[in-house]
Formats: sequence, structure tokens, C-alpha cells
Amino acid sequence: MPRRIPPCLAIVMPCYNEESILPRTVSRIAGFLSAVMADESVGECSFVLCVDDGSVDATWELITQAAKRDSRIRGIRLSRNCGHQTALLAGLSAVPDCDVVVSIDADLQDDPSAIRAMLAAWRAGFGVVYGVRDCRMTDTLFKRKTAGLFYRLMRLAGVELILDHADFRLLDRAALDALLEYRERNLFLRGLVPLVGFRSTIVRYARLARSAGESKYPLHRMIALAVEGITSFSITPLRMIALAGLMISCLSAVAVLYALAVKTSGYSIRGWTSVIIAIFFMGGVQMLSLGIIGEYIGKIYLETKRRPHFHIASAVNTADRS
Ligand code: UDP
Ligand code: MG
Repeated sequence: MPRRIPPCLAIVMPCYNEESILPRTVSRIAGFLSAVMADESVGECSFVLCVDDGSVDATWELITQAAKRDSRIRGIRLSRNCGHQTALLAGLSAVPDCDVVVSIDADLQDDPSAIRAMLAAWRAGFGVVYGVRDCRMTDTLFKRKTAGLFYRLMRLAGVELILDHADFRLLDRAALDALLEYRERNLFLRGLVPLVGFRSTIVRYARLARSAGESKYPLHRMIALAVEGITSFSITPLRMIALAGLMISCLSAVAVLYALAVKTSGYSIRGWTSVIIAIFFMGGVQMLSLGIIGEYIGKIYLETKRRPHFHIASAVNTADRS
């Protein structure tokens, strides 16, 4: 499709139980849209797509009310809670009519005004623009430490991530179409987008603290996302198991020699402790290895089903259902 000047911008925003902040976010983003439309940075056809990820509070009612007041606000509602990454994918799949798309969180932690700098980078020829947090001082110490550990682990596993970039990013039509060709179930968009390629750059912004509602990423979901990220992109943990197995086998050959030496010296009862330790140690290593292998086999199992990622239950102001 030839590029329209000014472009049609879509802002995709996954929302899960965000009733306490959504009205503020929607008015802030609508205000931003009016400003960029007024100075003709983007065209009149630009819009915001709110993806309700199966919220159980008033999020969907708030989206429909906003959509009635302002036709630039569109909404889709997923049939159940599918998680942030899938909600984002659902939104990205539902904007076939835009030239450029920006994904943003609903909690105003990402600064909508940074989209101007993203658009400028896009006009300069970049197909992918990553929003990168200037500093993480608004995150708790625990979140900062665990995030640091996560990036290090990912790098060890051979996955290239943009440091301090979450899911606030701009994609042009070509990069978006390419991304949508990846139909894998275990979604980790932060790892996929760099894989897709295209000329990319970063835009720095100050990430604010959540002003209402609470994070939907408690520790267990952060761990799940990290495991998802590592096992979806790398088989390094499997290779590490093989390496550890090789090293332990070499060590046990030494242990066998030692046991034989002890036996020939006549003190065969000695060594009971080391046998017990070896049994426990090996048991532990084997259980861990099986667990990691199981994780990958589970992924293969889920991928082979080719199940749909999400279902759209209702929609407002979209072309197909309104
Ligand atoms: N979110 C979602 N589905 C979920 C969890 C979160 O759509 O199952 C949305 C949430 O409404 C927000 C974004 O994903 O817009 C990021 O979530 P959150 O702010 O809780 O994550 P954090 O900033 O704490 O990492
Ligand atoms: Mg947040």
C-alpha cells in the first residue's frame, strides 16, 4: 500500500481491569491525537484501539462509552483473559487500515507525548522505533533487580533484547505485516520484533509510576514471562544440560576410580556419605534436566495444536462489527 501523507496512525492499547485509570488514559491519548492531527503529523483517519483482555471490572463499559463519544476510539473485547502479549497481538491484528502503529500500556506509565519523537524517527526512515525507559527509578528496587537479572539471563540464553524496552514501540506497515506472519503460540513480542528485522532505532522517555490500579505482573507472572522468553527463543538451556551431563559423567569416572581404590585398600564401608550425596545430587540434576526438557516438549505439544490465539467477543467502532 502506498504510504499516505499524513499517515494513518493506530495506537493499540491492551487493557486488563484498568477501570481506575482508563478514563484518564483515554482522554490523554485522545488529546494527544487531536494535537498531532491539528499539526498534520498524522491524518484524520488515526485512531486508538483499546483491547479489553477479558476484564472483570468496568473496563469494557468505559471503552464503549468513550467510543460513543469519540469515533476515533475503537474497542475490541477478547472472550477471556489471554495475557498482555496475546492482547497486544489481537490489537495489532485488528488494525489493517493503518500506515503506522504504536503499542502502549493503559496505565499511563508510557508517556504518549514520546510518540511524537517516534513519528519523527519513522519519517526519517526507521521501520521500528523502540521506546526505551530513561531510568527505572519509578520501579521498586525488587522490580529493578529482577528485571536486570531477566535481561542478563536472556542474553546468556542468546536472545537479543533492547535493554529497558517494554512494549511501547512503533512499527510501520511492513514491519507489522512481517510480525503478524509469526504465528507461534508462545508469544514474547519483545524478542520477536528484533528478529523481524527492519531499520530500527530507540526513543528515550521517562517512565512514570502507575498512578492508579495495580501491576498485573506479580512475581509469578514475571517468572512465567521470563521462562516463556527464554524457552521460546533459545535451546541454550537444553545444551547446558548436555554439557552438565558430560561434566558430571567425567567426574563420576573419577569417583569410580576412587571407589575402586578405596575397595582395594580394604575400607569398603567408607564412602557411604559420598554415595548418598552422589545419589541426591544426581537425582536433583536429573529432575531439573527432565523439567527443562519437559518445558520444551510441552511447547512443541502446544504449537502442534495450532489453536487460535484469541477470540474477539465484541467490538465497537471497528469496520467489521460495531
Ligand atoms: N494487561 C493485559 N492483560 C493481562 C495483564 C496486563 O492486557 O493479562 C495490560 C495492562 O492493562 C497494561 C499492560 O498490559 O495496559 C501492562 O501491564 P502492567 O502495567 O500490569 O505491567 P507492568 O507495567 O507492571 O509491567
Ligand atoms: Mg504498567
